[in-house]
Amino acid sequence: MKFDSVIVRFGGEIGIKGRWTRRTYEKLLLKNIKKILKHHGISHEKIIRKSGRMYIKTKNAHETATELTRVFGVSSVSPAVETTAEMNEVVQKAVELAKKTLKSGSSFAVRCHRVGKHSYSSMDICKEAGKQILASLKNRNLKVDLKNPQFTVAVEVRDEYAYVYTETLHGVDGFPLGSQPKAICLLSGGIDSPVACWLAMKRGCPITPLYFDIAPFTDEAATVKALDVTKKLFEWSIGFPRKIYVVPHGKNLETFVNESPRKLTCILCKRMMYRIAERIAETEKAEGIITGEAIGEQASQTLHNLRVLNEAATKYPVHRPLLGFNKLETEKLAKKIGTFEISTRKTEGCSAAPRRPATKARLEIVKEAEEELDIEEMVEESVREARIVVV
Ligand code: ATP
Ligand code: MG
Repeated sequence: MKFDSVIVRFGGEIGIKGRWTRRTYEKLLLKNIKKILKHHGISHEKIIRKSGRMYIKTKNAHETATELTRVFGVSSVSPAVETTAEMNEVVQKAVELAKKTLKSGSSFAVRCHRVGKHSYSSMDICKEAGKQILASLKNRNLKVDLKNPQFTVAVEVRDEYAYVYTETLHGVDGFPLGSQPKAICLLSGGIDSPVACWLAMKRGCPITPLYFDIAPFTDEAATVKALDVTKKLFEWSIGFPRKIYVVPHGKNLETFVNESPRKLTCILCKRMMYRIAERIAETEKAEGIITGEAIGEQASQTLHNLRVLNEAATKYPVHRPLLGFNKLETEKLAKKIGTFEISTRKTEGCSAAPRRPATKARLEIVKEAEEELDIEEMVEESVREARIVVV
């Protein structure tokens, strides 16, 4: 017996959208899924789309299922065996799958989910399949446990087809990538910002990362790390552009260190990042800027300082998906996404960070410090020197 299908579920939040939005999201999800199948060279015979589900007929059912757990909008997937909805055939496939899966002495349950008109009920399937599994696997000493089974033989009957499976892999839900406009993400390569990027992606925003290279205030490895993190992150957006902007920022930082009050260095540096991000957002036709800031995570991220930072962005909103996250929560997500290992590689920290950074910077003082500099020219020069790297 060979698995020849994958059940893709996308109930979640897509399911509660109005009809028009749901159809749009479902079509986009289908498009994103096709891109992934193409990328991995997985051939498929057909994809049946029904409300809340897709059924993909493919010889690579397990590989497809695994890849689709990384598609935003997918709630869960199951590699399955397709049959007609004819009861005898469904029961026979359920028995075959049970033979393949159920271990000696284990407990099991048969569950059935049915949509459409059929001559039998879901309960008929459960009873008959359960009976025949017990009869044909007598020597395995199985027992039925409907409450807490070790194995579940599941049957999904959908109109003229049925699918039998035992395994369900969880997806990450959210909305299909591309259902929202693009966002520019300030990506440092540290633990936080890739998670912030991912959370925006999960809600449907394709992202264009923007990395500020602060050499000579850090080492070359920091840039390599940011590019590697980006590559990892893009495993979640297959079929979408894979470019990152790299902006040399060391000269700007040097100016702040040499010419402005030392305790304002980080605030001035970040405000500059926001200004440059706005320019890239314009070029990229993005709708917002994402950062990995969380309240109080660093001196520059007190609620007070976040207000001072925000004031530098005049055209685009700065979104902070991690605002209320504890570090451990962020780390847990980073591990799930796959970026944690890269983000925790040892690199030189920023050597321009002052010993006593302002935690309560005053906007007037920050602006006074900026008036002493040619901020506009600094932004222009940085934008001119920005390079696009495709990873
Ligand atoms: P992260 O773990 O993301 O590096 P962090 O906790 O170290 O964040 P900061 O260094 O204060 O905190 O940075 C706050 C946010 O500013 C980052 O999450 C990121 O969005 C942005 N940022 C900081 N440094 C850079 C950089 N070199 N390039 C691009 N964005 C940056
Ligand atoms: Mg950092």
